[in-house]
Amino acid sequence: MEAPPILASRRQHSSWVLAGVLALVVAMVVLFLFDPSRNGFYPRCMLYVTTGIYCPGCGALRAMHSLVHGRVLAALHYNCLLVLSLPFLAVYGLRYLSAMLDGRQAPPLHVRPIPIMILLVVVIVFTILRNIPGMPFTYLAPGP
Ligand SMILES: [Zn+2]
Repeated sequence: MEAPPILASRRQHSSWVLAGVLALVVAMVVLFLFDPSRNGFYPRCMLYVTTGIYCPGCGALRAMHSLVHGRVLAALHYNCLLVLSLPFLAVYGLRYLSAMLDGRQAPPLHVRPIPIMILLVVVIVFTILRNIPGMPFTYLAPGP
């Protein structure tokens, strides 16, 4: 006997959430064990490789490696936008995971246009500032 479509859909959704959590844990273990600065198997940023321009994600792997080793200042140096956004992502992720584990409907992603526009502007300004060659903007650049 098959489950009703709504239950089957929820069960399938829970599987994806569980797979996502598992992938996140594996990624954190890999980042803990292997320094992106010293191991070449990590993907390289194609924008930086081809143009020398730092994208908003440049330094993210090194930042996460530093964070899992408890070096918050180093993580901020590599990618402060990522590090400063992690608490917000964690709160949303935990709310979502909690709802899924309780069998409730996952909280909908209420995305209003104004916060998205603000986030977009922050990312663009961050990207521009970290590519300006001079103090104090070089603090935002992750380095080669
Ligand atoms: Zn990049």
